[in-house]
Amino acid sequence: MDSTPPPRSERYTPRVNSLRIIWNVFVASVVVASLFTAYTPLGLIPYGLAERLSQAFGGVQESSPLVFPTATPRPRPRLGIVAGHYQNDSGAQCADGLTEADVNLEIATRIRQQLIDEGFDVDLLAEYDDRLTGYQALALVSIHADTCDFISNEATGYKVAPTLGTIYPEKADRLVACIRNRYEAVTGLQFHPGSITRDMTSYHAFDEIHNETTAVIIETGFLNLDRQLLTTGQDQVAEGIVNGILCYLYNEDASAAP
Ligand SMILES: [Zn+2]
Repeated sequence: MDSTPPPRSERYTPRVNSLRIIWNVFVASVVVASLFTAYTPLGLIPYGLAERLSQAFGGVQESSPLVFPTATPRPRPRLGIVAGHYQNDSGAQCADGLTEADVNLEIATRIRQQLIDEGFDVDLLAEYDDRLTGYQALALVSIHADTCDFISNEATGYKVAPTLGTIYPEKADRLVACIRNRYEAVTGLQFHPGSITRDMTSYHAFDEIHNETTAVIIETGFLNLDRQLLTTGQDQVAEGIVNGILCYLYNEDASAAP
């Protein structure tokens, strides 16, 4: 058994701790009292004190109007539609004066409006639009139509080709698959694979746009045998392409009926 008294410093420790506890209790009660006062309805506090408390706690004066920060409009997702040959040349020409450029512009304008109605920002671009350089968007679709000459009874149908310069070729392939599926469903036209030309696969805009932008070019039909659809069914043609773009954007099943 050790009867040696504890060293001086230890003997006085309890007293120091007691003082600290008392001090802490005092501080805590001041805080609690302050909080209680702060939350007390001001109507119960004598006039004058209420006002001072309100000022002390940074209370908002009742006459101050509520000021909300100005909302910054959030940019909407962007899409680009090229009206083939627009502001450059006529494209395919028919004997009666109908031009591919006019047909393309009618269709592209309808596509743009339908996509705006779906909540997108849509650029309607000319064939050699300055904005195509480094163009960035979720997707770019260039609208064209095939020759007005009679070639054969098989010269009917549409074609879609993807950009080859993209760093995401699988995305471009998916956009093609989506447009094929939805365009056929809406227009009843068949895919016409035999006549996909270098004009399509080496389309100039594909080299100009940003290499992350998914892009395709579509020949919506032949101005000869598909003329009726392309000139009187432009809403339908536009809807088929819009449904294809939405299928791509919303990751829908490109093989399933819409
Ligand atoms: Zn064309």
